[in-house]
Amino acid sequence: MMRPLILALAVACVATAATAQQPDDTEYTRQIRAFTSEPRFNTDLTDHLPADSRVPTPLAVLGYVPGTVGRLSHVADINRYFRALAAASDRIRIFTLGNSDEGREMLVAAIADPATLANLDAFRDVTRRLADPRGLSEAGARELIARGKPIYWLTGSLHSPETGSPEMLMELVYRLVVDDGPMYRSIREREIVLITPVLEVDGRDRQVDVYNYGRSHSGVRPPLVYWGRYTAHDNNRDAIVLSQVLTRNVLAAFFEWHPTVMHDLHESVPFLYTSTGTGPYNRAVDAITINEWNTLATQEVTELTKRGLPGVWTHGFYDGWAPNFLFFVANGRNSIGRFYETYTSFGAECDTARIGPSQRSVEWFRPNPPLDGVRWCIRNNINYQQSAALVALDYVARNGPQFLENFWLKSRRAVERGRTTAPYAWLIPAGQPRRIEAAELVNLLRLQGVEVHRAGRAFGVGTQQVSEGDYVVRMDQPYGPLADNLLGIQTYRPTDPAPYDDTGWTLGAVRNVVTLPVTDSSVFSQPLTLLTDDVRVRGAATGADAGRVAFLIPATTESNFAVFRFRLRQIRMFAAEDTFSLDGRSFPAGTVMVPLTGAGRDTERQVLAALDSLGLTAVAVRQVPTVARHELDVPRIGLVHSWTTTQDEGWVRYAFDRLAIPYTYLSTQQLRDSSRLASVDVLVFPQAGFNPRMLVTGMPMTGPPIPWKRTPETPSLGGYDSTDDVRPGIGLDGLARLDAWVRRGGLLITEGGTATLPVQFGFGRGVSVVDARQLRARGAVFRSQVRDQASPIAYGYADTLPVYFSQAPLLQVDSLDSRGSERARDSSVLRDLARTLPRVIVRFHPRADSLLISGLLDGGSELAGKAAVVDVPHGSGHVVLFAIRPFWRWESQGAFALAFNSILNWNDLGARWPTPRSTRGPAQAAQADRGR
Ligand SMILES: [Zn+2]
Repeated sequence: MMRPLILALAVACVATAATAQQPDDTEYTRQIRAFTSEPRFNTDLTDHLPADSRVPTPLAVLGYVPGTVGRLSHVADINRYFRALAAASDRIRIFTLGNSDEGREMLVAAIADPATLANLDAFRDVTRRLADPRGLSEAGARELIARGKPIYWLTGSLHSPETGSPEMLMELVYRLVVDDGPMYRSIREREIVLITPVLEVDGRDRQVDVYNYGRSHSGVRPPLVYWGRYTAHDNNRDAIVLSQVLTRNVLAAFFEWHPTVMHDLHESVPFLYTSTGTGPYNRAVDAITINEWNTLATQEVTELTKRGLPGVWTHGFYDGWAPNFLFFVANGRNSIGRFYETYTSFGAECDTARIGPSQRSVEWFRPNPPLDGVRWCIRNNINYQQSAALVALDYVARNGPQFLENFWLKSRRAVERGRTTAPYAWLIPAGQPRRIEAAELVNLLRLQGVEVHRAGRAFGVGTQQVSEGDYVVRMDQPYGPLADNLLGIQTYRPTDPAPYDDTGWTLGAVRNVVTLPVTDSSVFSQPLTLLTDDVRVRGAATGADAGRVAFLIPATTESNFAVFRFRLRQIRMFAAEDTFSLDGRSFPAGTVMVPLTGAGRDTERQVLAALDSLGLTAVAVRQVPTVARHELDVPRIGLVHSWTTTQDEGWVRYAFDRLAIPYTYLSTQQLRDSSRLASVDVLVFPQAGFNPRMLVTGMPMTGPPIPWKRTPETPSLGGYDSTDDVRPGIGLDGLARLDAWVRRGGLLITEGGTATLPVQFGFGRGVSVVDARQLRARGAVFRSQVRDQASPIAYGYADTLPVYFSQAPLLQVDSLDSRGSERARDSSVLRDLARTLPRVIVRFHPRADSLLISGLLDGGSELAGKAAVVDVPHGSGHVVLFAIRPFWRWESQGAFALAFNSILNWNDLGARWPTPRSTRGPAQAAQADRGR
């Protein structure tokens, strides 16, 4: 929700008459020039600042000019400046986007002439109606286009270490409000400019703290370990799943304004890259949008090159493929999403630019390359991004009707595309095995703004049978291409340019939810009812009413299964170790048994309430099945983070928090502490880079300690965890204690890069990490096989499963056969050997041509047959290695249960451990089946 905070209409008007020559603020102008390292890194747009006696400059409010070396602004000061401006001028209004996780306010300022600002509702109504062409005649659309205005939304500092944009936007908003030159008047009259100075407000304040700490400690800064609560750089990878507060605030504002352009300001490559990308372009993006990217980029490159700025270019840097970037909020909804990368000053510094040959070569897309060895200051960065933004704002203002027409046309083409090309709809059966996750997927699509219907009765469409209550996502809607893109298969060819991020994300696959394309257009004439609320699956207990002695809950791999166990942690539960039948009904291995005998009515009431609210189904029975079982005793979980990066750990923590799975948060340094280790049964150690040695050794112990904690000097640090010194790692002593903890019966769960830590440091035997030579499997969805369905880790899973994997690690596991042949054929020796060898629970499909489900795969023979999930016995404990990423960016819900099953069965992973075939006589088989 947004509400106007300050309505400044009554404030004395700033002169609107064109003045021949507006006076400059001489002191401010002097400082701009002083902080620019050379005049050639400035333009006529930013080398001066106009003065207005009634409107305060950033210098007047903050005491410094944006781009002052050593000065970065906290969020409160930035917001204070925006409000001071709004109090002094009727050309700006301030709205709130909502608060961050930590309660900091995300702002958006609207800048236009006073008449436009007084009628914002009418202009928002125009873009809202153009966004959905259904029921809008061409004449009606033309009338809206004629009286509408394009809305251009600039956003700063999504990425916290990219520091220049909030400083720049304070100055830009001042110019837009004050300058009475013809270009500015045109912008204010013909366009609505939205400015959000900081998107990641929590991370910004931490970055300013870290930077200031470095200024007063000889340049030594803590790494920016935390940005937002859960995501760091991946706050720009959330647009598929919309999980973070930041993303949801931005999306809500999109639906409020339907901005014509959304423009993020980033920092990395020299000196200014404006986005178009190399392709391949996401298939949901209309070709008109891709041409608009090019149109705008061409304006900026040409205009800034004309003004003498070296190093302004386009085309390279990224691909344009994945829809997970924040600006896909616009690109996925028929608007324009774009970004700049400008050359950072690493805080607010001046330094010598070191530009490598590959970044300064002359290319067709970079005829005017950046320069090596020049002095580069934060003010240069501000000049570049501000000048470019003004070029873009000016161009869109002058071509408003064209951009509004394109917006409407794209929306119309999206509906038309869905009406005339298959798939015409996506069917999500409501009664599928993972019906809770299916409902979650439907709710995610609804959050995306996609309309979802339910079948009013059963019907056939083509060869498909639709049941009453099934979910149907029609493609003939404005966001139909977006829905199709999220649900469909991605084909990223090996011959395409190198991918920038994930290449495949097919949501039905990674969430293990059945989704079916409908290729018969008669679906449009079937009885379908639009969902007007999120769907909620209700659970129930069927079976015996009286004389019930237990509830049986069949394993389905739904995440709520784990939620159920942890929510009712005081109630005893057991897992069946085999399939069984009871009352003519069969149950899978992993079925949870909740005995009621002697448990009292309260237990029964709690179980029924939890089943209902979590959507789980149980069968009440009058006799306890005789199948082998073990108790699901609830473990104490430790979630481990490093002090170098929490990016990947944050997504795991998010999943645990969202599902209310309790844990103790531990740093790698705390693994040195035996009492800490003794306080947990399971350690979940998410990926933290790909260098396990770094996790052990930590950072170089040179110089003074580097703290990460809340102090008067650094009030925004600490919070999630604190340390007096971020440098030490696990240490060899910590490693030895961790080893002993596992041997005594602990369960260590590792994923991705951290799966290589136990392998390299000899926790257990029989697994090695092999290097890829040809493999290109970048962030994609692959077919895996569940190899050991008797393992508790596989409870509830069918024999194949789509999994997310990205490039590494490749785990090679010794098989019993290969090891057994070296040894005596004595059966007891073989069986003992089997007990010490890893158990492959899930492996990648053994045939390279059957491996790929969605995304890029090349050189697949190196991945084929490799282990995806391995259970490595180690003393009395276990190490479970995930080569896949079970908690990938809140996307991979299909694999969650592989981790949750490991956790829930933490001290029973030995159940039905495989026995060598040659020794498996009837007696041993029975023994193994009882196994613990
Ligand atoms: Zn960035």
